[in-house]
Amino acid sequence: MDVRSRSRIDTDIVVTGGGAAGVAVAVTAARAGLRVTLVERYGFCGGGAVAGLSGTVCGLYEATDSRAAQPRQVVFGFADEFVRALDARGGLTGPLPYGKTWTRVHDPIIWRETADGLLRDAGVEVIYHATVTGVLCEGEERIEGVMLWTKQGPLDVRAAVTIDA
Ligand SMILES: Cc1cc2nc3c(=O)[nH]c(=O)nc-3n(C[C@H](O)[C@H](O)[C@H](O)COP(=O)(O)OP(=O)(O)OC[C@H]3O[C@@H](n4cnc5c(N)ncnc54)[C@H](O)[C@@H]3O)c2cc1C
Repeated sequence: MDVRSRSRIDTDIVVTGGGAAGVAVAVTAARAGLRVTLVERYGFCGGGAVAGLSGTVCGLYEATDSRAAQPRQVVFGFADEFVRALDARGGLTGPLPYGKTWTRVHDPIIWRETADGLLRDAGVEVIYHATVTGVLCEGEERIEGVMLWTKQGPLDVRAAVTIDA
């Protein structure tokens, strides 16, 4: 049992999980002027792409039956920005054939460094080694944040919006 007293921080948005989804929402919300806290149980972002070593960025290109076709990118937005930043750091191959479409192989270490750079530049407060252990509720209807276990003891993050990523 951890007997250290609970600490508390307040923010506009708490994002739980620093995988691809958590990084995207945290950076986007912070750029919109909101105070964002991202919490991640490991010491780095990336989730399946880094801790899971999935290896590739899928889903950017059109699928086709034509063997003569060239890769045509159909997904843009934050995913596009992220792969460009990954590419600029030397962490991504060009499109490689994958079934009916194409995929790009990434370096997991550079993936997490790219995420850290985007989060830092956007002003997101990141808390690593922080595991969500519960939800702060107001009655049965409203979620007011999360309870965490961190290396520095138990921490409550109270937020107007809680995003489970
Ligand atoms: C076997 C497999 C192979 C795959 N291969 C590919 C591939 O090659 N290319 C591709 O593009 N996609 C691949 N995918 C899909 C890809 O992994 C997912 O689409 C992607 O990881 C989803 O991102 P996410 O941010 O939603 O979740 P995740 O990547 O799962 O991120 C969730 C994050 O939340 C954190 N977390 C979880 N619980 C807590 C908690 N209690 N407290 C704090 N933090 C917590 C985790 O540590 C993690 O960092 C693969 C999936 C699987 C299962």
